Amino acid sequence: MAGKIIIDTERCKGCGLCVVVCPKNTIVISETSNSIGYFPAKVNNNDCTGCGACAIICPEAIIEVLRDDSGNVEILIEPREEGEQRIIEEKE
Ligand code: SF4
Ligand code: SF4
Repeated sequence: MAGKIIIDTERCKGCGLCVVVCPKNTIVISETSNSIGYFPAKVNNNDCTGCGACAIICPEAIIEVLRDDSGNVEILIEPREEGEQRIIEEKE
């Protein structure tokens, strides 16, 4: 199972929750701040499994998770648009 994440770094507050929860050490905190003054999370390796834990725990809901189970890449968790209510739904 191969996964990939995309972090909206400009909206990241650098809380580090995604770093702690990732079982593959795929996320680290950047040494460079974003335009709102936070040090955002960034991708550290290619070991992501697409488990979705980082996206679920992120209080800002700004991590998109992509997973490839069968040769087709599917979006597992979509990031929230600015101002949008966060809704988590399971996809089959
Ligand atoms: S989806 Fe899972 S493995 Fe991939 S970066 Fe997020 S927590 Fe880590
Ligand atoms: S959990 Fe979300 S807000 Fe916190 S560091 Fe990770 S991406 Fe940024």
